[in-house]
Amino acid sequence: MNYETYAPEETKKIGQTIGKNAKAGDIYCLIGDLGVGKTIFSKGLAEGLGITEAITSPTFTIVNEYIGRLPFYHFDVYRLADSTELEEIGYEEYFFGNGVCLIEWANLIDDLIPAEATWITIEKDLTQGLDYRRITVTSKP
Ligand code: ADP
Ligand code: MG
Repeated sequence: MNYETYAPEETKKIGQTIGKNAKAGDIYCLIGDLGVGKTIFSKGLAEGLGITEAITSPTFTIVNEYIGRLPFYHFDVYRLADSTELEEIGYEEYFFGNGVCLIEWANLIDDLIPAEATWITIEKDLTQGLDYRRITVTSKP
């Protein structure tokens, strides 16, 4: 599935729709450069899961947990030096649990991502303007 957005709110809205339809055990992997909109998309997905709490970037904590219609585990693995840190926080409990996982920078740990995960790539195209984003949703990158 391909989408195009021209404002942050539109990207958030796509996240909301995916969050509304998310099922227990779903894993959403986000790929895209710094500042492309991964966290904004994540905020939308959390809203779609009925989470009212403010979503903050888990860059320094690796994972933040929220409770909505389902548990929501928001990862950002950008700062991980290696997968040992993920093993220490017990990532398998999250990935193979009954909540919804969203992993920013999942491409950095793609060998740990279960095959059923949904991959979402967000890209800029400056020829289309500063706020343009192309969002691609696939079962494999
Ligand atoms: P990331 O988590 O990928 O580093 P953020 O979500 O933190 O990125 O930030 C994305 C930035 O891009 C925000 O400042 C946002 O306002 C801006 N932006 C501009 N246009 C868009 C768009 N169409 N979709 C998402 N973000 C956009
Ligand atoms: Mg981010």
